[in-house]
Amino acid sequence: MTDVVVIGCGVSGAATAWELARSGLSVTIVDRYGPAAMASGWTLAGVRQSGRDPAEIPLAIAAVKLWENLAEALDAPTGYTQDGNLRIGMGAGDLPALKDIAETGAACGLPISFLDGASAVRDVAPAIAPVVAGATFCATDGHADPDATVNAYVAAARRAGATTLFGEPVIAVETAAGKITAVRTASHRIATGAVVLASGVMGDDLLAPFGADVPLDVKYVTVIRTKPVASTLKQVISVADVRNAEAACAGRQQLDGAFRFTSGIEPWSGAMHERNGRPIIAPPIRALAETIESFGTVVPAALDAEIDAYWCGLIDQTPDSLPVLDRVEGARGLFVARGFSGHGFCLGPITGKIMAALVKEEQSPVDISAFSSSRFAKAGASAFEPVTLHG
Ligand SMILES: Cc1cc2nc3c(=O)[nH]c(=O)nc-3n(C[C@H](O)[C@H](O)[C@H](O)COP(=O)(O)OP(=O)(O)OC[C@H]3O[C@@H](n4cnc5c(N)ncnc54)[C@H](O)[C@@H]3O)c2cc1C
Repeated sequence: MTDVVVIGCGVSGAATAWELARSGLSVTIVDRYGPAAMASGWTLAGVRQSGRDPAEIPLAIAAVKLWENLAEALDAPTGYTQDGNLRIGMGAGDLPALKDIAETGAACGLPISFLDGASAVRDVAPAIAPVVAGATFCATDGHADPDATVNAYVAAARRAGATTLFGEPVIAVETAAGKITAVRTASHRIATGAVVLASGVMGDDLLAPFGADVPLDVKYVTVIRTKPVASTLKQVISVADVRNAEAACAGRQQLDGAFRFTSGIEPWSGAMHERNGRPIIAPPIRALAETIESFGTVVPAALDAEIDAYWCGLIDQTPDSLPVLDRVEGARGLFVARGFSGHGFCLGPITGKIMAALVKEEQSPVDISAFSSSRFAKAGASAFEPVTLHG
């Protein structure tokens, strides 16, 4: 018998497991692959408060406060650095939306400003080519190393007593009289009174019996990583695609000097295969070419670096681009943290605290009323505003 089973060992599940284990509960983390095998490994790993829905900004602010001391708390490096985020507009038509983002962020307490013109942007980030029209700049945003962070959480959770079961999916969540009793994998039945489902794009099959599936539109993003080169870009950048209310491309230079950059989001065919026990989605050459073209136009130094790796990552997009952080009404002891819509890496540390508070029937450290699981069923998925410029 374990007090809590956490399904999914991305940043959300690993952070939740650590918070629960260090508060004295027995915890088992189950992942069909292993730590950071899906979005939390595929990610760009920007740690960004700016450019979010106002409902989500307090979560991101609370998360950044935790990021600032996370490596110490976990006693392991996270690769976190706080050098700011630039959301770039390429043309004059993009600038009103960027000014709105700066105003909304400032009203929520962020140190965010609007930079008018290429030279203002290049004063902050000389690596940006003089082809841009302006940008927002939020100084307390940053980035981190996603694999190091998730592994640091898992190691700290283990030191606090958590156990792990990797390489097997949970295939059923069992209940009796409306209460969680166990989870089953192909070879294990783990008796438990509580389950946190932090399973990213997967897991609808586990929630559907309780009427709690989250309406997700799963899309893909192409990611390219180069070999390390001299450090020229400290900020995370994204290029606003105002027409589609998304980011056209985004990128950063890792602390080791490697550029890591992404495309915008595209519809996903569903094709995925496994290699060495990890899920793989290969990008079409067209997407690679477009990603290189978009990012290289803005950060030309990236074009001289050698390609080291490329992959696709999946985005768990909800109708309002906000996550579900909630208990499940139909099954006492079942909790869900999914649907981060491409923004959940930054939120990991606060997601862990929120989910641990829900399991322990304590007050959430941040208002989570906007993230209920029932909001889509009540309003109908189509009732939500189209996605705003989150990127
Ligand atoms: C290309 C890309 C760029 C991104 N950029 C950013 C960014 O700059 N900043 C940001 O904040 N966010 C970003 N995101 C989003 C962010 O990475 C995710 O929101 C976050 O990592 C989600 O973490 P998670 O733990 O909820 O899910 P995941 O990391 O997807 O973890 C879910 C885990 O559940 C496991 N699982 C699923 N089903 C089962 C089952 N039945 N049994 C057992 N295990 C199961 C999977 O194997 C997986 O390991 C990006 C995402 C992508 C793909």
